[in-house]
Amino acid sequence: MSVNIHYKTVGSALKKGVFANPFSLGKYAVSPYMACEHGCIYCDGRAERYFVAGNFSKDIVVRKNLPDIVNRAFRAKGIPVGVLAMPLLPGITDTMDHMDRLYQALSDSGAAFDIPAGLTLRPGRQKDLFFKTLGAHFPQLVELYEYIFRENRRSGSPHARYIDELREKLGLFLEQVILDRKVFDSITLSLD
Ligand code: SF4
Repeated sequence: MSVNIHYKTVGSALKKGVFANPFSLGKYAVSPYMACEHGCIYCDGRAERYFVAGNFSKDIVVRKNLPDIVNRAFRAKGIPVGVLAMPLLPGITDTMDHMDRLYQALSDSGAAFDIPAGLTLRPGRQKDLFFKTLGAHFPQLVELYEYIFRENRRSGSPHARYIDELREKLGLFLEQVILDRKVFDSITLSLD
C-alpha cells in the first residue's frame, strides 16, 4: 500500500508548555508531522488522544513549512546532539546486556547526552496492536507485559514497581546515560 502525504501549513513551529516536559527536558516541542511511516508498533502516537485519522503508517500529515520556521527560530544557537533512547522495552531492550551495549555505543559515537524512557501503552488501539505483535514475535513475554501493564492506566504507564526497577537499572549507567554533565546542566538550566 502506498503512502498518502497530506500537506498542511502552520503558523508556528514551537509549542510551548507551561512547565518543562520531564521526558524531553524542554518547554518547547516541535512536531513536524502527524502519523509516521516507520509504523513502530509501540508508538504512543497511535493512541486516540492524538486524533490521528486513517492508517497510522500510510496517511501522513506533513506540516510543510515547519523546517523554515524552525531554522529561523534556532539560527545561531549551538545545539548539543544527543539521543532519546526510548522506549526501552521490558525484557527486550531494558536488559542489562542491551543497555550495556547501548551506552557503550553512544559513548563511542560521542553523543552528548541520552534521555532514556520506558514504554507506555495507552489502553485502546495502541495497546491492543502492541500486544498482538508481541504475541506473534515474543509469545514468552506476553505474561510479563500483562503483569507490568495490568493497571491499564490512561497515561499508558507501567506499574510503579517496574518504573522503580528501570530507574535503578539506569542509575547504574548514570555516568554514561548523561554522558556530558556540562551539556546536561546547560539544557536543564535553559528551560526557563
Ligand atoms: S515511535 Fe516510530 S512510529 Fe512513532 S513517531 Fe517514532 S519512528 Fe514514528
